[in-house]
Amino acid sequence: MSNMQVTISCKMCGNILNLEQESIGNVSYVRNNARNSKISLDSVTVDKEGDIEDYDEIDEIETTLSEVRFKCDSCGDYIILSDFE
Ligand SMILES: [Zn+2]
Repeated sequence: MSNMQVTISCKMCGNILNLEQESIGNVSYVRNNARNSKISLDSVTVDKEGDIEDYDEIDEIETTLSEVRFKCDSCGDYIILSDFE
């Protein structure tokens, strides 16, 4: 078991989302962890660079994680995690 966790909390409402690993490996499944929380994963944005004309060229597209946004279901406030590079 990993000792690591990520906690996201709303300072206004006191709602908390703890992202912890599920079972084997140190992977935390965000939507499953958020199922019983009043903080939810709102959106994930991925930036794409490059142009392709055929699916065979898909490796020429570069993708980077841009933003992950969590929202408090009680007050609607949110936090955006960004600047992953
Ligand atoms: Zn709130």
